[in-house]
Amino acid sequence: MNTKDYIDRENQYVAHNYHPLPVVLTKADGIWVWDADGNKYLDFLSAYSAVSAGHLNPRIKKALMDQMDEMDVPSRAFYTDKLGEFAEMLCGLTGMDKMLPMNTGAEAVETAIKAARRWGYETKGIAKDKAKIIVSSGNFHGRTTTVVGFSSDAEYRRDFGPFDGGFETVPFGDIDALEKAITPETCAFLTEPIQGESGIIIPDQGWLKQVQELCKKNNVLFILDEIQSGIGRTGKNFAFQHEIDKPDGLLLGKALGGGIYPVSAFLASTEVMDVFDPGSHGSTFGGNPIAAAIGLEALRILEDEDLAGKSAELGGYLKDKLLEINSSLITEIRGAGLWIAMDINPAKATARNVCESLQQKGLLCKETHETVVRFAPPLTITKDEIDWAIEQVRNVLSEMDHAQQKQA
Ligand SMILES: *Cc1c(COP(=O)(O)O)cnc(C)c1O
Repeated sequence: MNTKDYIDRENQYVAHNYHPLPVVLTKADGIWVWDADGNKYLDFLSAYSAVSAGHLNPRIKKALMDQMDEMDVPSRAFYTDKLGEFAEMLCGLTGMDKMLPMNTGAEAVETAIKAARRWGYETKGIAKDKAKIIVSSGNFHGRTTTVVGFSSDAEYRRDFGPFDGGFETVPFGDIDALEKAITPETCAFLTEPIQGESGIIIPDQGWLKQVQELCKKNNVLFILDEIQSGIGRTGKNFAFQHEIDKPDGLLLGKALGGGIYPVSAFLASTEVMDVFDPGSHGSTFGGNPIAAAIGLEALRILEDEDLAGKSAELGGYLKDKLLEINSSLITEIRGAGLWIAMDINPAKATARNVCESLQQKGLLCKETHETVVRFAPPLTITKDEIDWAIEQVRNVLSEMDHAQQKQA
C-alpha cells in the first residue's frame, strides 16, 4: 500500500464529510507525526487542540495502560473509584462546584442546553417551552442537529432542518446587542470566549466581564464553551481566567482527553447541576474509569508542566515572529497563547494553498474557512521547534510572493 492506495480506499469507503490534506499519517510522537512514506512533519494543528499534551504523551499512555490492568467500562449504573477524583480536580482547577461527564464536545454542549432550559423552568420560573438561549454569531459548538440549528454558517445547516428553535443570535462580542436581546424568557447566554472554528476571533478586552455582570443582573446563566480554548490553549488554564472568576456553566472537551480518548464535561454550580435527577440525562461511556484516569492525568500534566505558562510565553514569541514576516499574502496575525490565526489575502491565495505548501515543507496546518490559517501546536513544543516552524512559514510565503511577482 502506498499513499495513493490509502487515500483511494479511504475515499471509497469513508464518508466525504472532511477535506483532508493529501497526507497519510501512520505514526506520532510528541509534536511530530510521520506519513506512510516515512516523511516527518511538525503537527501545527494538534487535532484542533485535542493533542495539547503532545501525541502519545508518555504520562497519558501510562495512565491508560495502568487503568487497562484494573477496570474498563462498567457504566454509571455503578460507582467507580476514579470518577470522583477526576471531578474533584476538575472542579478545583475551574472553581466550579460539580461536573457531568460526557464524551464528545457536542454532547457536553447538549448537556449544557438541557441544564440551562431546565434551570430556566424550574428555578427561574419561565413558562413551559418558552425558554430562550442566546448565542453568538459565528459560533461553533459541534455538529448535532440542535447545535447546527443555531449555527450562523449556512453550510453547517443546509438541508438538516427542521430546527426546533429556542435560540437567538447576537453579534459576537457586542454587549449592547446582548443586553437588548435578553428578555424574561432568556435562560442562558452560550458563547465561546474566543471563537476557534470561526478563525480565532478575539472579542474586545473586558467583554467577558461585562457579559458576566449583565447576566447576573438579569438572572441569566452565562455558559462558556471552552472545548477548544480551555486546558492551557490561550495562556491561562481556561480563557475565562483572563477576565473573570468563573462563569455559571463551563464546557470542556478536546484536550481533556489527553489526545487519545474522547472526554468532555459540563461544569456548573450546585444549583444548576441539581436540575439533573436520575433518569434525566446520561451516557453509556461518559465518565468511565478509562476516561476518568486519562482526564485526571491530562489535568495533572496541565499543572505539573505549566502548559498554560508555556502557551503564554511561546505563543507571544510565535506571534511576534509571525508579525515580523513581510509578505503581501498576510493581512492579519492575531491570537492568544499558542493559538494563532494568519489571515491570507484572498486576492493572492487561499488558506488552503498555503497549508498545502506548508505540508511540502513538513509543517501540518489546516485552514479554517477560505482565508485563515490556524496555528495550534501541542503546548509541549519548544522555542527551537517554533523557530524551525517559523522558518518554514517564512519560506513558503516568500516562494508564493515570488511566484506572484513572476505572474504579474
Ligand atoms: C470542537 C468543538 C466542539 C465540538 O466538539 P466535538 O468533540 O467535535 O463534538 C464544540 N465547541 C467548540 C468550541 C469546539 O471547538
